[in-house]
Amino acid sequence: MSNAPQTIRKPSRAMINGFDPNRLNELPEQMQKSIRRRDQSLGPSYRLFYDEPLEIVRGKGVTLFDRDGNDYLDVYNNVPSVGHAHPRVIEAVHQQMQTLNTNTRYVQESILEYSEQLLATFPAELGHVMFTCTGSEANDLAMRVAKYATGNQGIIVTSGAYHGLTAEVSSFSPSLGVGVPLGANVRVIDAPDALRHASDKGSLEEHLRDQVRAAIADLHRHGIGVAAFIADSIFSSDGVFAGPTGFLHPIIDEVHAAGGLYIADEVQPGFGRTGQEWWGFQRHGIVPDIVTIGKPMGNGIPVAAAIFKPELLVEFGKNIRYFNTFGGNSVAIAAAQAVLDVIREESLIENALKVGGKIISELKSLSHGLEQVAEVRGSGFFIGVDLVTDRATLSPDGVAAAEIVNSLRQDRILISACGAQGNVLKLRPPMPFSSSDADRLIEGMAKAFTNLR
Ligand code: PMP
Repeated sequence: MSNAPQTIRKPSRAMINGFDPNRLNELPEQMQKSIRRRDQSLGPSYRLFYDEPLEIVRGKGVTLFDRDGNDYLDVYNNVPSVGHAHPRVIEAVHQQMQTLNTNTRYVQESILEYSEQLLATFPAELGHVMFTCTGSEANDLAMRVAKYATGNQGIIVTSGAYHGLTAEVSSFSPSLGVGVPLGANVRVIDAPDALRHASDKGSLEEHLRDQVRAAIADLHRHGIGVAAFIADSIFSSDGVFAGPTGFLHPIIDEVHAAGGLYIADEVQPGFGRTGQEWWGFQRHGIVPDIVTIGKPMGNGIPVAAAIFKPELLVEFGKNIRYFNTFGGNSVAIAAAQAVLDVIREESLIENALKVGGKIISELKSLSHGLEQVAEVRGSGFFIGVDLVTDRATLSPDGVAAAEIVNSLRQDRILISACGAQGNVLKLRPPMPFSSSDADRLIEGMAKAFTNLR
């Protein structure tokens, strides 16, 4: 059982699913000190997970350890996708750091080899990869190319989308809230929430088609053409919407007909997390014009990329020089190569499908008859549990989600929440998560669900 500090039991209502600075005095002395130092040096823009923040000192596989040696089951972190401190990644980075770490202005066999192997995981239409350091940069570059190739400026996103932190990309990331105004060229459509919209006009597809038509018409009314529709293929920050597969088709047809492109943001679902193929968009049977990838790509070493249909880069490449000092450097590529190798050799995509499927079906049984669990949904190791005040109104219950997230944290199981009201539990473990790890998670969730009764 947990011997972790149990100081705070009741979750904060002031800040759903995060630490409320007004409650600093309730924390253990040592943590108060660390948070004050953190505020002093990092300033006020940063946030901390959980009502009782965690100090983590070590990670291994799917386990994180705090300063007192307590172990936490990591059901949240997708960046260490092949597991925390994977020996293959450590060795690859160590070897490469000792040998050479330089940039893409030199010919390097390892970059060529990795690029070819990476591109081979995509549909044949996607033929060029450009490296960046972060997902934000990849989306920034993707949108820059989309605008250049189409000659248009308009951008369509879903209402809870997050695509990154640059000035441009944050202007089409509505999940950042009212403090970050959307660009005048940005139009928002509903998240593909089958639970709440499917019955509106007979089908989710129809609803989304109407939404995107209206967005395009409004852009045109303002003299703005469509450059791109960009979507996270699993709609993570929107609330994890995995199906019904194929629902993206009508949106993309409309966007293409208006002269725009479809950018698949695979920063979250990519590298096999959704358990069926390498990329989340493949579940929908579509081929994007541009794909962006990041987070899990280097297991924590900063490396990300944008992948393009080659025809989009012909004019752009002729007229615009691309250089990214750190993007695709030798060490980043060594880490990325190790990640690709481990995903294949340890059959992690198959594991995501098998163990993720087990979690989804056991959570469905657990929540059967619970008025506050509207839906368990997901694919592979990307799972959402939609909490509501009651099933009749489907009114999102972010407070219940925060209670569960914080009570699991006290039981040393780490998850988070997403969705417009923070009401969707988000389960997204490192990919070597085993069947017995799933058993521990389910046991913890069963206990947390009893508080909902
Ligand atoms: N796209 C999505 C869907 C993301 O979730 C994120 C990060 N949370 C990004 C882009 C931005 O990636 P980064 O933080 O590496 O810039």
